[in-house]
Amino acid sequence: MNITGTQGLIFNEPLLFEQGSAGRGGCTFPDCDVPEKDVINLIPEDMLRDEVSGFPSLSEVDVVRHFTRLSQWNYAVDLGFYPLGSCTMKYNPKINEDVARLSGFSNIHPYQPEELSQGALQMMYELGEYLSEIGGMDRVSLQPAAGAHGELAGMMIIKAYHESKGENRHKVIIPDSAHGTNPASSTLCGYKVIELKSNGRGLLDPEAVEKAMDKDVAAFMITNPNTLGLFEENILEITEIVHRKGGLVYCDGANLNAIMGIARPGDMGVDVLHFNLHKTFSTPHGGGGPGAGPVGIKRELIPFMPVPVIEKNNVGQYKLNYKFPHSIGRVKAFYGNFGILVRAYTYIRTMGAEGLKKASETAVLNANYIMSQLKDYYHLPYDRRCMHESVFSDKIQSKYGITTLDIAKALIDYGFHPPTIYFPLIVKGAIMIEPTETESKDTMDRFIAAMKDIAVRAEKDPDSLKKSPLKPKVTRLNETKAAREPNLRWVNDYLLGVF
Ligand SMILES: *Cc1c(COP(=O)(O)O)cnc(C)c1O
Repeated sequence: MNITGTQGLIFNEPLLFEQGSAGRGGCTFPDCDVPEKDVINLIPEDMLRDEVSGFPSLSEVDVVRHFTRLSQWNYAVDLGFYPLGSCTMKYNPKINEDVARLSGFSNIHPYQPEELSQGALQMMYELGEYLSEIGGMDRVSLQPAAGAHGELAGMMIIKAYHESKGENRHKVIIPDSAHGTNPASSTLCGYKVIELKSNGRGLLDPEAVEKAMDKDVAAFMITNPNTLGLFEENILEITEIVHRKGGLVYCDGANLNAIMGIARPGDMGVDVLHFNLHKTFSTPHGGGGPGAGPVGIKRELIPFMPVPVIEKNNVGQYKLNYKFPHSIGRVKAFYGNFGILVRAYTYIRTMGAEGLKKASETAVLNANYIMSQLKDYYHLPYDRRCMHESVFSDKIQSKYGITTLDIAKALIDYGFHPPTIYFPLIVKGAIMIEPTETESKDTMDRFIAAMKDIAVRAEKDPDSLKKSPLKPKVTRLNETKAAREPNLRWVNDYLLGVF
């Protein structure tokens, strides 16, 4: 029997993927009001087809149900706890969405003249000012579309700066705990990456920085707190060393959620800093949608920033300034992902300075709570207070043949999104947990209970974990095959013949 009425939603039936029926449609066209012959004559003969067929024939309700159903098979921050370390999957307040949908923001056209775009320009100008204040920077460009893009823009600025001084520095120092985008951005700018080892406490030694620094080094790229969730205690000494040898300091600001309103990278000697609006500033992320990675810079780097620069003149009008002859140019069409900027602006305005500080304090408290509750069950390679996230490993469980991957997959059966796994690379079998400030103690306690249960099962009944997850629609995937032979698109037989 084919119970297609529920389409696998209530019953665990396979989805009947082809749901169309010849002749069924979702729209009605008005009568053609120009002679059809004339239109056809406009199309070159060899591009005309007698018949167009093979496309799905669906009504509107079929389409809505199909996509709604697929969305229900997915996990989201609006459905449950999402402790994906380094990604800061905090709740996205819905007021951000309301404001982004105001017609003045959502219907504006990027070619609209400046005098008719004053509200949008004001919002962007003020967002730049707020981010400068939060990061301790002198100016911010909102153009970059992601953290990695902010890094690229920042490294291009650093390169332009050194070149303007006639210096040909060709190396960038990056700690071994860094996110992979750091060496990628540097390499894309033509730099040679020098890896710097962290010490036994997961931190950078000033002596090691001193040794690695020479006149060929353009920049030191640092993440603070670093990807182990630890604050780089020697940051002031490190930035001093780098500056003394003529280098600049780039700070990967993806972990700003730990220090917002409390400490500012700009005050620590950082020259360039990117912000992940889709992490720290509560705009949605995941699934490859639009993000924003504004880049903040210190005064001496302003001439090199991307254009246009949004400025306010002395009568309070907002202007786009393209007159930056040393600019690295545009890094994104128009002004960046505008809708994301509106959401971040709304978040900052609704939270206020005190609210942002409280968010960071709570994020750090939550991370330490989870760390303290789990450290008797999972190996903690750096056993001390953490910032906004903590990093465990599978060292204890691996004795029973249970790996980080098994632990992550098992969590899915308890209804949680797994933490970040196998990152940072310097911790073997890393499990990186970042609860963020938006989770209640109840939620964290349920997560902690699940993690403890998994630790007990790893010892008593490891086989039961090897098959998990058993409950979701998609169980354990062959991840290598999924990566090597991705099948992302449905194509019916007819279309296969055409393309
Ligand atoms: C997320 C992240 C990045 C990259 O940001 P995207 O917006 O994903 O490009 C860089 N560094 C760290 C530490 C991150 O967590």
